[in-house]
Amino acid sequence: MPVYIHEPTISLLARPAFIEPSHLPVNWIGESTDGERLSEFAGRLCYMSQRNPASRSTHEYLENIKRQGHGSVLEHATYSLLLEGVSRSLTHELVRHRAGFAYSQLSQRYVDESEANFVVPPAIIGDEHLETAWREQMEAAQQSYVMLVEHLMKRYAWVADKVHRRKMAREGARGVLPNSTETKIVATANARAWRTMLELRSSEGAELEIRRAAVAVLHVLSGEAPALFSDFEIYEAADRREAARVAYHKV
Ligand SMILES: Cc1cc2nc3c(=O)[nH]c(=O)nc-3n(C[C@H](O)[C@H](O)[C@H](O)COP(=O)(O)OP(=O)(O)OC[C@H]3O[C@@H](n4cnc5c(N)ncnc54)[C@H](O)[C@@H]3O)c2cc1C
Repeated sequence: MPVYIHEPTISLLARPAFIEPSHLPVNWIGESTDGERLSEFAGRLCYMSQRNPASRSTHEYLENIKRQGHGSVLEHATYSLLLEGVSRSLTHELVRHRAGFAYSQLSQRYVDESEANFVVPPAIIGDEHLETAWREQMEAAQQSYVMLVEHLMKRYAWVADKVHRRKMAREGARGVLPNSTETKIVATANARAWRTMLELRSSEGAELEIRRAAVAVLHVLSGEAPALFSDFEIYEAADRREAARVAYHKV
């Protein structure tokens, strides 16, 4: 029996490691993380203001950067996340975010999906009748997939390279896998690109699954680098689900 997934899992894989050059020290004020310091350092280099004449903390400095729309300064800080427990329909939407993003996603040609799990669309969670009907479709699709792989392996038995033969079978059979099939994806982006994606996908207009994932990503990134994401506000929307809005819009 497949596992039915109700929440994404987001893991931070990588964050910036800032190395301050000894010949250009900054007069840092306040607590900050490497990604925030890297952005501040880059911004201050533009005006050679390492002495920090306005006595701004890193948080205040980056708040001003965001307010003024100097988004390019935020491009230096890059974060890699692993998203699991998300559907193929979510990742199809996610990969539309191109500028500043890099992706690596589980291959349905190489990986056997005979025991794939499925992500329950948030819109049907809680309606037993709809969930049952949906689960029946998932299980029927999975059975068709297993049957197709088996037959395609025989059909292409003449292909000597076993890895290639399996790939041929799986690429033919995956056509019956639903959009709800669980997948995994590594997404790396700079803070400016994450902000743009989060603004679009955590809003009330976004599809519910990617909106839920965007809010989860926002929790991770704002914990990791508060000054880069502090102008996002997570709130409970009229549909009683979480959404987020941003004070300083995409630039
Ligand atoms: C609620 C919602 C519904 C959607 N519905 C659909 C849909 O029905 N069909 C569909 O196809 N898509 C849909 N999309 C996807 C949408 O069209 C975008 O592809 C997606 O939001 C990524 O936005 P982007 O292109 O701004 O992102 P990115 O590609 O990351 O680009 C970020 C920014 O960089 C700049 N940029 C990037 N590439 C270029 C370029 N080539 N030339 C000039 N400037 C560039 C632009 O300023 C752009 O806004 C939907 C998105 C949302 C949020």
